[in-house]
This record gives sequence, C-alpha cells and structure tokens, in this order.
Amino acid sequence: MTKSLKQLFEDYEGKRAIGSFNVHCLEMLPAMLEGAKEVNAPIIIQTSPGTAEYIGFDLLVNSIETLSERLEIDVCLHMDHCKDIDILKKAIDAGYSSVMYDGSSLDIVENIKNTRIVTKYARSRKVSVEGEVGTIGGAEDGMVVAEKDAIYTHPEDAYKFVRETGVDAIAVAIGTTHGQYKSKANINFELLEELSTNMKDVGLVLHGGTGVSDEDMRRCVRQGMKKVNVGTELNKSYIEEVNKTFSSATPLTSLRKLLLPANNRIRDIVIEKSKLFQLM
Ligand SMILES: [Zn+2]
Repeated sequence: MTKSLKQLFEDYEGKRAIGSFNVHCLEMLPAMLEGAKEVNAPIIIQTSPGTAEYIGFDLLVNSIETLSERLEIDVCLHMDHCKDIDILKKAIDAGYSSVMYDGSSLDIVENIKNTRIVTKYARSRKVSVEGEVGTIGGAEDGMVVAEKDAIYTHPEDAYKFVRETGVDAIAVAIGTTHGQYKSKANINFELLEELSTNMKDVGLVLHGGTGVSDEDMRRCVRQGMKKVNVGTELNKSYIEEVNKTFSSATPLTSLRKLLLPANNRIRDIVIEKSKLFQLM
C-alpha cells in the first residue's frame, strides 16, 4: 500500500534505512517495485519536478497505487528537491505521500519560513515533508551546484530548523555529492553522529547515495540515516544498457526487447541497494 514517509520511518524503525529511488521515465517504474518486492523491502519512488511534469502527476500516482496493490509492498511517492511551493501543493493534491521543499539556497530564516508553509499544507493532508539545511553539492535535475559551494550542515541550524518547521525528514550535508559516480565520497562521520544523536524524532536523509562506498553506506545506516537517495546510478545504468541494445537495433527490432535489459538492471540495483540499507 502507499504510505507517507513518516509512516515508513515508524514501521521500519530499527530495521533499515529506506531506499529512495529516482524514477527517470515511466518505463523504469514496474522494475523498481519488482526489485523491492524481490527482497520484501519498502520503497520510496521519488521524482524531480521535471520528471513529474514529463510523466504526469496523475499517471505517477495511479501507477504506483496499482503496482503497490498488485505486489503488496509499502511504497511512498515523494517529490524530490523542489523550490516551488505551488508545485509541491500540486503534488500533494495529486496524491503524493511525501514532498521535499528545498530552501537550502536561502538563508535559514527564509528557509524556515517557506518550509513552514509547506509543512502546514502537507500536515492537514497527512503528507510528509523533507527539508534541507546546508547545501549538498553536485548536479540537481540538470542544474549544477559546484562541489566547492557545498556547505556542511551546521548542527545548530539543523536543530532550529527541525524545531521550527516540524518537518518529518531532513536532508543533511555530510560530504556526499549529487551526480557522483566516478569516485567515492569522503563522509564526515563525526558530524553524522552529532546530528543523529540530537535529532531522534526526525528522519535523516542521505543525498548523493550513488557516490558512497558500500562500507560507508552500512556505517551511515548504522549511525542513523533513515532515507537514502539513489538517482544517478539508475540514470547512468539505464543509458549504459540501452546504448548496448539500441546500437545494434533495426527499425523492425522489438522495442520491448531493447528496453528489457535496462529494466532488469534497474530491478537489480534496487535489490542490491535495498539489501545494503538493511540493518544486520
Ligand atoms: Zn538530493
């Protein structure tokens, strides 16, 4: 069934971090949920505002409801990094069960003010909200945030932000980078420890999960990360697979057969990551 992010945090407390996977095109979606089903894990499907417009808010909501009922798994549909409050309201009204307001480029006062507008709107509709304090570097939905502009989350800012906004989840900048797939991140575990010790009632979110080694990822989950975003790896892998099949295709080749290897790769990544996010 579809659940809010807050509900998933409660249901899987002490068991795992929940994988949040960016759907880039509708073709990927069944494979993502089938991967979660394979390992009996909950899954968060997240979209950028651009992908939501591309696929259609209603089609996403309806497809996820159909698939979650068919496969009998817990699914949350989440809007990733959105700076536009009207788009978030549209997502909530369409049936998203969680949204992220990204005010990380604003000063903390403005960020809190805007995030509060979103939490107020979402709460009355039982939808969860993720906020961001600090800046996670890298590419976000095609817009590049330079790595040097990434700013670690200041713990005091994060505590104040959570207290004053009432968010259910908070994206923290601890050294990961969006779009990283060629190298591995250097994570500030002391900062993570400090944040997780002092913010027990809110779910910490790791962005840029593709750039984290398996060993570091297990440690992040042990140290209290509750949601882990994986986007780049799915996009990159899909392209790798279709590059192989499309390069030898003729106009009469079955399109379905050209896409199947890419869909299968997506399913395998969801399986692998969902296992990795589990607490032993
Ligand atoms: Zn992100």
